Amino acid sequence: MIQIRDLHKHFGDLHVLKGINLDVNKGEVLSIIGSSGSGKSTLLYCINGLETIQQGTVHINGTDVHAKNTDINKLRQKLGMVFQQWNSFPHLTTLENVALAPRIVKGKSKEEALELAAKQLKHVGLGDKLKNYPVSLSGGQQQRLAIARALAMEPEYMLFDEATSALDPEKVGEVLDTMRLLAEEGMTMICVTHEMSFAREVSDRVAYFHEGIMEEIGPPQQVFEDAQSEHTRKFLMNVR
Ligand code: ADP
Ligand code: MG
Repeated sequence: MIQIRDLHKHFGDLHVLKGINLDVNKGEVLSIIGSSGSGKSTLLYCINGLETIQQGTVHINGTDVHAKNTDINKLRQKLGMVFQQWNSFPHLTTLENVALAPRIVKGKSKEEALELAAKQLKHVGLGDKLKNYPVSLSGGQQQRLAIARALAMEPEYMLFDEATSALDPEKVGEVLDTMRLLAEEGMTMICVTHEMSFAREVSDRVAYFHEGIMEEIGPPQQVFEDAQSEHTRKFLMNVR
């Protein structure tokens, strides 16, 4: 599981995360919502060790992410990450793009890596695009390629940072459907998202961030229908 205790993050004078406490259990889907600049992306980067922290702890399966003696590259293999936009390698086919990290980072044989890549591309509905180059894919297909690439590392957790925000509206659904499929399969997921219907229908819990504070967390029904914080209610009123 992911265990976050009293996490503080500063960028110079800017206090971006102000004492976050959060547990994410195996198999759980957590959606994180909140205004731009509230610290949602920073939290994900602190979880996978891409950012240092100034106070508190993050543990993944009992290992302290920010401890000096932690093998962060090894730990990071447990965490798949999908960003708003992922730039794939243009000179490699989708199959080769997905097979790359298993080969290089995990040391799998070429055959093994290609087999794994094909499996994950089928998983995200790109089974007919194995030989395509990324430039020939739509935005939605490119994001599904990014998901396949993360899954090919056989992660225990998936972190999504606004995976659909850069897409044309008609491409959002196919990426959300892929995320929904992973959720149904039992993947543990943290999804920073502006898609309120996804947060509502797919998540076990929804967290609302406001200026570096997790002001609200609970089952979707509770957050959407009976928010405790005034900020949450205002935010939800404006995004609906
Ligand atoms: P969100 O993802 O909720 O929009 P972020 O986590 O990206 O918010 O950013 C939170 C705050 O931290 C913002 O004020 C942002 O400008 C600032 N910030 C983010 N990354 C950096 C950085 N690398 N250096 C300085 N400030 C940063
Ligand atoms: Mg962000």
